[in-house]
Amino acid sequence: MRLIPAKDVQCCFRKRTGSFVYLKFSESSVRWLKLKEDLVYGVCYNGNVCWVKPETLVVEMPFSAIAGNAAGEMEWEKNVGVKGGLSERLARLKIEAREKQQELWSVEQELQEKCKHRFRPLTKKELADQWMSVGARCLDCGMDFGWRCKVSPTGYCEYGDDGSEYCIHCEHPSERK
Ligand SMILES: [Zn+2]
Ligand SMILES: [Zn+2]
Repeated sequence: MRLIPAKDVQCCFRKRTGSFVYLKFSESSVRWLKLKEDLVYGVCYNGNVCWVKPETLVVEMPFSAIAGNAAGEMEWEKNVGVKGGLSERLARLKIEAREKQQELWSVEQELQEKCKHRFRPLTKKELADQWMSVGARCLDCGMDFGWRCKVSPTGYCEYGDDGSEYCIHCEHPSERK
């Protein structure tokens, strides 16, 4: 680390405690911009300007160090900024997905409440089968009612409130192969 007074810097410098590297303004630029001629000015890679007194000790830096600052900041964004950004995006997507899922559930529920429920017509073969075991899933809303029933007016087997496992219409058991 080479400390020299700011007035003696040829090209670039950084403050003793800072990491930003500044390109020193030429004396003609300081005059042209009508800046204070008793100060030393510098501009860093992002366009920010600093000033120090001419006697202030600063670290002389190579010109390439300016690009190093820019690369360092991009690296920092890549490591911290984008990583954080991704998890933020993921969290937002999860919330959106949950909201959509709830929306879907409420639409399904509404559909099932309003649905008149239709089932695929039973075939002759199925009707002839004494032990017919056809699932009763509504063609419109997808609700599952267990077993199709040949007798029940609803089209599916129904069981009594007494906890009986036999259909109150066709007397077939709820347990079937
Ligand atoms: Zn239905
Ligand atoms: Zn039944």
